[in-house]
Amino acid sequence: MYDYFYGAEAEQFSFYRIPKVLFTEEHFRSVSAEAKVLYGLLLDRMSLSCKNGWLDQAGRVYIIFTIEEVMTALGCADQKAGKLLHELESKCRLIERKRQGLGKPNLIYVKNFVDKAADRVQNEFVRRKQLGRQYSGKSIFASRIVCGDCGSFYGPKVWSSNSKYRRVIWQCNNKFKGGHRCETPHLDEKTIKARFVDAFNAVLDGKGGILADCRLMQTTLTDCTGIDAEIERLLTEIDVVTELTRRCISENAQSSQNQQEYTARYNSLVERYEKAKTQLEQLRATKAAREAQAEAIGAFMFEVQEMDVLTEFDEKLWLAVIDKMTVHANGRMTFRFRSGTKIDV
Ligand SMILES: [Zn+2]
Repeated sequence: MYDYFYGAEAEQFSFYRIPKVLFTEEHFRSVSAEAKVLYGLLLDRMSLSCKNGWLDQAGRVYIIFTIEEVMTALGCADQKAGKLLHELESKCRLIERKRQGLGKPNLIYVKNFVDKAADRVQNEFVRRKQLGRQYSGKSIFASRIVCGDCGSFYGPKVWSSNSKYRRVIWQCNNKFKGGHRCETPHLDEKTIKARFVDAFNAVLDGKGGILADCRLMQTTLTDCTGIDAEIERLLTEIDVVTELTRRCISENAQSSQNQQEYTARYNSLVERYEKAKTQLEQLRATKAAREAQAEAIGAFMFEVQEMDVLTEFDEKLWLAVIDKMTVHANGRMTFRFRSGTKIDV
């Protein structure tokens, strides 16, 4: 008979691992338990592929796991094995198979069970929480309201600070500076909030089209294939130049050379290196900016998606969706949201 476990003995065996989400998430509910077990086996094979460097040209890891292997592992007939693979592929899209041609086994791409979209929603909740903390003490209107006359920010000013009529109003920081005088009106916080509610409700009215635009923009922004290829090229260039520089220095140390020629060669390599490095930094900055923008759009979509009407001002919503609010001399305001959407009220 088998013995009992004592202490942490159960930890000593090797295990196949099946992600918990396959059992806890609603959309995996209809997947059969056998298919989930098979997914665990395929995941296990993935680590072998990583070790062996089985990557395709796009850098994606694949495995080879034949029908016969499935049959052996699960102790089933080939029809059943095929059915389970098919279930993982078509029903829950947890794998993708690529045919290699006659007589060769299929390549299997085991897909990540973490849904990036669901992940984003989770991130939004976290981000929103932090947003509130970040702004405690600071005004949520600072650096967000712009004077339509001169382009300066609006700043707060306390009126009648010593009386019971004390209130905070916002006006152009530049209003009384120099000879220029901006015509833009001052605003109290109640007005800012009310106009924001109007503008945001206008967004909600047209949200179908706006969300479609957002999705498109996000897709464009997050597709960094071109940038990545260029980054890759520059990294190679840097490697090459580094190696050439190393050789150049060691040759000079080992043999007598014309020092003028050597210096010229050395300097040109350094120049090449600096050039590649500058380009690389620029590209990385561009990529980071695009990712930040895509994230901002995601934050905007998150707020808009679930809402039908906004009844009262919400600080966190303001912080999540607003980019700039421009006040014009005639009292109209242009709200620019982080999606790029502009609304005049
Ligand atoms: Zn101004």
